[in-house]
Amino acid sequence: MNKNIIVMKFGGTSVGTIEKIKNVADRAIKSKSEGNNVVITVSAMGDTTDELIELASKISKNPPRREMDMLLSTGEQVSAALLAIAITEKGGRAVSLNGYQVGISTDDVFSDAKILTVKKDRIVSEFEKGNIVIVAGFQGITDANDITTLGRGGSDTTAVAVAAALNAKYCEIFTDVDGVFTTDPNVVSDAMKIKILSYDEMLELASSGAKVLHLRAVEFAKNHGVVIHVRSSFNNNEGTWIMDTENLNEKMEKAVVAGVSYDTNQVKISVFGIPDKPGIAAKLFEELAKAHINIDMIVQNVGEKGIAAISFTIKNEDLNTGRKVMEELKHKLEIKNIEIDTEIAKVSIVGAGMKSHPGVAAAMFSALGDKGINIEMISTSPIIISCVIRKERVKEAVKLLHNAFGLDKQKL
Ligand code: ASP
Ligand code: MG
Repeated sequence: MNKNIIVMKFGGTSVGTIEKIKNVADRAIKSKSEGNNVVITVSAMGDTTDELIELASKISKNPPRREMDMLLSTGEQVSAALLAIAITEKGGRAVSLNGYQVGISTDDVFSDAKILTVKKDRIVSEFEKGNIVIVAGFQGITDANDITTLGRGGSDTTAVAVAAALNAKYCEIFTDVDGVFTTDPNVVSDAMKIKILSYDEMLELASSGAKVLHLRAVEFAKNHGVVIHVRSSFNNNEGTWIMDTENLNEKMEKAVVAGVSYDTNQVKISVFGIPDKPGIAAKLFEELAKAHINIDMIVQNVGEKGIAAISFTIKNEDLNTGRKVMEELKHKLEIKNIEIDTEIAKVSIVGAGMKSHPGVAAAMFSALGDKGINIEMISTSPIIISCVIRKERVKEAVKLLHNAFGLDKQKL
């Protein structure tokens, strides 16, 4: 590990104004003066990305994806250059680099590209010149030298990938909240900041609705052992550490439930009266996969008289495509009836400790059942339990579960 290399990432709100960019410059200069080699990854200022998308949408409903990446990648270049100017103005030394200049190579899936490799030579040679290195987030370059972007929120992934390439001490993600919370503080006012999470806990929280980090950034960190520190850019408080918790002090018992998350961005599709025979489920989900629709939960009931029913959930934004696929399948698979339910939500509890504690699922179900909240679907994996319930009751459910697992009283 390169003990003196630190990567810091600042999100859109943290570089939203010139004043804030100047604050980031102060932080960078301070860290450098403490003897660190500093890389700063930035997002686009404020709502810039949305505004650029809006501009394109005034011209075309379906703009070429390559051109969208060309357009959106400019947002990060603006904030990177402004930050370099701010640092220089304050007497520091800095250079800003775009994805191409660093050598961040990606696949060619425009607007959702995956980082393949990150070169470290240019960054290291800038360190040697005494520069703070600013890397435009969210972008990379294909083999054919086309500019790609990494999906919304992708600057997190840039930061983690750069930290991995440099073998940095850690990657600090500065944002507009104090860290990762036991649940959404907008729903539960006494939600607590979590001190430490394992990669898997963070992955489950992020994929079940918590919106703190780009999912792929956490996956990348896990695969490369990058320690992440999520913290506020507006104060100096310690935030949440995301790391390998296997070898932590034995006394630090793993929380049975570390957090409660929820997702209101799902719809349920139920398929009634399909033939209960081998291969039918495969056909159904193959067609959905071909249309690039990700399935979340699936429940199949026991077939009676050779007839079965399957329900599954997908993301809201996939509903139109999903509906089309299902209509086509209706004839092919002799489906009697298809129902679409948009009034559902998913509530989940996540914690590495539940692996070794029986009764967690039962406690969750009775907390919901006691208040008459009906559970419509359930899914579990070693460290997460999710229930689909009525959307109108999701906030109540989050509060109930947060309380039932003692998260608001926890001394963290
Ligand atoms: N600017 C991009 C977005 O708004 C990337 C990022 O913020 O991480 O999604
Ligand atoms: Mg942004």
